[in-house]
Amino acid sequence: MPIQTDIQYFEEQYHLPPFSDFKSLKKEGTRIITHADGHIIYDSDGNAILDAMAGLWCVNVGYGREELVEAAAQQMQKLPYYNSFFKTSNEAVARLSAKLVSIAPEHLNHIIYANSGSEANDTIIRLVRHYWSLKGQPQRRVIIGREYGYHGSTIMAASMGGMKAMHEQSANEADFEHIRPPYGFLYQGNQTERQFAESSARLLKEKILEIGADKVAAFVAEPVQGAGGVIIPPDGYFDHIQKICAEFGILFIADEVITGFGRTGNWFASQTMNLKPDVVTLAKGLTSGYMPMSAVLVSDKIADHLINEGGEFYHGFTYSGHPVSAAVALANLDLIEKDGLIERVREVTAPYLTKEIKRLDSHPLVGETRSFGLLACVELVKHKSGPVLFDPIGEVGMKCRDHAINSGLMVRAVRDGMILSPPLSFEKTDIDITLEKLQQALDATYSELMK
Ligand SMILES: *Cc1c(COP(=O)(O)O)cnc(C)c1O
Repeated sequence: MPIQTDIQYFEEQYHLPPFSDFKSLKKEGTRIITHADGHIIYDSDGNAILDAMAGLWCVNVGYGREELVEAAAQQMQKLPYYNSFFKTSNEAVARLSAKLVSIAPEHLNHIIYANSGSEANDTIIRLVRHYWSLKGQPQRRVIIGREYGYHGSTIMAASMGGMKAMHEQSANEADFEHIRPPYGFLYQGNQTERQFAESSARLLKEKILEIGADKVAAFVAEPVQGAGGVIIPPDGYFDHIQKICAEFGILFIADEVITGFGRTGNWFASQTMNLKPDVVTLAKGLTSGYMPMSAVLVSDKIADHLINEGGEFYHGFTYSGHPVSAAVALANLDLIEKDGLIERVREVTAPYLTKEIKRLDSHPLVGETRSFGLLACVELVKHKSGPVLFDPIGEVGMKCRDHAINSGLMVRAVRDGMILSPPLSFEKTDIDITLEKLQQALDATYSELMK
């Protein structure tokens, strides 16, 4: 029996952590992360692990950035908290709003704050329905999302998302519908990329016609589906989607919680992919995870209507526009600029990852590799031809993930896909180490399966 510290004991006795099977957690125990610096996290057993997931898709500037610590400390001394409910606000959040508008696509000039991606998406659901009510079309309530879409874990955000397992646990509210995502690895078959883009987008039109266009409020999509397994749409998909939204006058919500703040080589994937969303969800990379904060970018079309119509929008949180989070977000955006992280992703590391990840294609376990910006997935398969997936799905992915972590690489498994979402401060050499360790983990998984 390994020696159990007090910390591990407290953890296992008292803490019920997110997205966990509490029974198996009791058996397997929990890794305590004690500190981190740069791209390395350290655990209480003394292991150093390269974090190729940037925490949970969020620590975009890396760990241990003094500028962010300093920004938080200064703001805490000056004004640790004040609410923005009753005609009051704070300097940090006002400055952050101006900054966000300056980097956002042109038509997005208004911001509502919250504390998590889930809350931001709940805010959007209420906002969009409020908008349609004010427009005299209160029957427009349905929001269409996609299978494998992830929009958070509150009841509404999970209902909007397309995770079946979550729906089955009391997160399946009325007025949410889902279409199949453009997941080429599973669904493209013999179609060309163009055909696949068109046929995948056509599912939205069919769904709108099935529901009745006059009942549909919005379509929601992550530009690249993250937690669903880094599902990258074929070229042209969103052009078709946006045409369909325009044709039926429905709003387009882009959930950029993962793709925002440089991950695709521009501030937002909306810029990389030429999207014109009416509303955008932001969280994670907004503060590089140093403080909880999320935001909703609201287009002029919607904001102007709300402003002109007047009437209170009965919505907000105690910590909406929290000054310390706002100060950290500002410092984080400054750092991204000062370090040239977005240019580095666009010009250096993303093209390098795209090229180098192909090295893994020939591995007997690999059915497909794909990447977009600094997001990547390596799909593991039972047989390359077909491809034939593992049955049950997910066990081999978990084995491979464990091998990777044991060799000092933090990655995530989604079904049997190995997911990478490294800090934007990664250099080429960090990508080399990541792919080497992933290759070793694949080899170790393969030998285990051959036994
Ligand atoms: C993580 C995530 C969310 C939810 O954010 P939380 O802060 O965990 O509530 C929403 N949308 C996307 C795309 C995400 O990746």
